[in-house]
Amino acid sequence: MKSRFAPSPTGFLHIGGARTALFAWLWAKKNKSNFVLRIEDTDKERSTQASVDAILDGLDWLCLDYDEGPFFQSDRYDRYNEVIQDLLSKGQAYYCDCSKERLEKMREIQIAKKEKPKYDGCCRHKSLKSGVIRFLNPDTGSVSFYDYVKGKVSIANSELDDLVISRSDGAPTYNLTVVVDDHDMNIECIIRGDDHINNTPKQINLYRVLGWSIPKFAHVPMILGSDGSRLSKRHGALNLLSYREEGFLPEALLNYLVRLGWSNGDQEIFSIDEMIELFELENINKSPASFNQEKLDWINQSYIKNISINQLVGHLGWHLNRLEINLENGPILNDLVEFLRERSKSLVDMAKSCEMFYEDFDGFDENQASKTFKTNSKEVLEDLLSQLSLVNDWSARNIHLAIESICESRGIGFGKVGQPFRLALSGDGKSGSIDKSAQFVGKERTLNRLKMAINWINIQNN
Ligand code: GLU
Repeated sequence: MKSRFAPSPTGFLHIGGARTALFAWLWAKKNKSNFVLRIEDTDKERSTQASVDAILDGLDWLCLDYDEGPFFQSDRYDRYNEVIQDLLSKGQAYYCDCSKERLEKMREIQIAKKEKPKYDGCCRHKSLKSGVIRFLNPDTGSVSFYDYVKGKVSIANSELDDLVISRSDGAPTYNLTVVVDDHDMNIECIIRGDDHINNTPKQINLYRVLGWSIPKFAHVPMILGSDGSRLSKRHGALNLLSYREEGFLPEALLNYLVRLGWSNGDQEIFSIDEMIELFELENINKSPASFNQEKLDWINQSYIKNISINQLVGHLGWHLNRLEINLENGPILNDLVEFLRERSKSLVDMAKSCEMFYEDFDGFDENQASKTFKTNSKEVLEDLLSQLSLVNDWSARNIHLAIESICESRGIGFGKVGQPFRLALSGDGKSGSIDKSAQFVGKERTLNRLKMAINWINIQNN
């Protein structure tokens, strides 16, 4: 018993592909069977190593581990040819040398007659020895199969084409390779996008003729944009790995993806273990799901708040590296992250917020400084400098008390002290609670930044 993910490496790993991979992975885990990764790289012109890397990197980021593979179809040409030769020798496949022009003309006539365009079988009995190779599809009867999402699907054989299984250059085509691989790799359940549902009856005919057992199928509806149109860039990123760059947690994305097209009552948040336990192919929605960026943001924030601190810090590391933040000089990261997680919208946001605690800066946001660092703020900043230099036990509570005593002695509100202090501390006025922030910035740095702010005001006044 196995399931598989079989992407073609012809671009980035699409968010819809990632969801298909997740469903197939969940099925394997739930059924305690193996999950196979197969890279379908028979299209030599469009397949790239960068795309293979993106698939491997994307699955790795999502922690969708595969038990077998990655297998590459390009390594299996001999096997495909063996099957093609077998079909030829049994008279179940034949060479066709119809010209492109003939095929096009035939198609035009069929369309004009409102017939479904298909090959007319002209070369079926010609006994040619070169050209493309077509599968001899049965003319009568029908193909029926049960799909876990769509229910019973039936199609008359008269509707199906004699499909090309080998191109004139000898390259096998998708419908042939997929059948050979799914059979050889013992795939019991094929979970894939419903853009392939029209291929399934053709593939079933191949299974039948080859005498192979037919796997189960689940064709998953597409993901649409929020307005019901085909998902495109204007609805959100299509590339899975952009979500890592934008600061999403993989756990949050998996949770979002599993809910996109599958449900278990009203439940929104699922741990991976719960997903595995509750996942049923039958509960995949029949209609396409709409991508909803706000909901994804909400789930991400919910994970940022609630996930274990070690997991959170682990994922944050990637973003801190990207910003080249040196963690050697500053607070203990886990403690800081515990403070920041409540108000961080994403990991990118959190990593940017970390910067002021580890890196010094040499100027203030000009716009804010000109509004906030007024002459009267200078006195407040000087008070802060002298009071805070006396604080020995550098805690948020003691910092808070120092601010309060300045407010009292000057008869001013907290904001009048808090605002210039916040700008002095952060450089851009962005920080959470001021006393906690100052605690994490540390005493020496806080005092230096206050001096810098006073200096800034002095320079302006001269
Ligand atoms: N390689 C195909 C694709 O990326 C998937 C084939 C399949 O799952 O059967 O669309």
